[in-house]
Amino acid sequence: MMFQLTLRRRGISDRAVLRAMEEVPRDVFVEARDRTEAYRDSALAIACGQTISQPFVVAYMTEQLQLQKQHRALEIGTGSGYQAAILSRLCQHVLTVERYRTLADTARKRLETLGYYNIEVLLGDGYDMPAGAGDFDRIIVTAAMEQIPDKLLQRLEPGGVLIAPVGPHHGTQTLVRMVRTEAGFDRKDLVDVRFVPALPGIAREL
Ligand code: SAH
Repeated sequence: MMFQLTLRRRGISDRAVLRAMEEVPRDVFVEARDRTEAYRDSALAIACGQTISQPFVVAYMTEQLQLQKQHRALEIGTGSGYQAAILSRLCQHVLTVERYRTLADTARKRLETLGYYNIEVLLGDGYDMPAGAGDFDRIIVTAAMEQIPDKLLQRLEPGGVLIAPVGPHHGTQTLVRMVRTEAGFDRKDLVDVRFVPALPGIAREL
């Protein structure tokens, strides 16, 4: 209840998004020691020095994506798998990519256990997506990029939307929303955010 109220008070109004936020148990995605903190509106540390994003930011980015049932979505930065779970309630298929094997494996098992079968977790580098992955109606980047790689923008279907935190790796970034138009891309800067950096290559550490 408190969770919903906080999100509404902060301006999340899309009912489908609020429903998805209610449906997905965030406590399953946080570390065991943080279970009691799971429904507070804050980011929490997970394995490999990464974080599960603040619920408001997850809801806000999801709302800005304007997902439709038939959409195929791509997420760069699986982390705990929480954002992917939320997306999966609102569209047809989610491909989520993570550069740490430990995080990818844990998220995959967790999402299977929860029965979220329309999500594929891939160990890989979001800066260097394999061509075989195809194009996407929606792309969400959940790690900070100094700039949006053209390679990623090219994976958007016509009319497609990409959301990414853009800015310095250590500091504040701006959430940027790009829409693919006939002429190119429309850019809109949304709000300031802080994400862990998006780093190139698959992590050498587990
Ligand atoms: N969306 C996640 C939180 C993301 S934290 C959740 O809901 O829990 C950012 C994640 O992006 C980290 O796990 C980090 O390892 C991953 N990451 C950073 N750079 C990446 C890259 N180039 N490709 C794929 N994943 C990346």
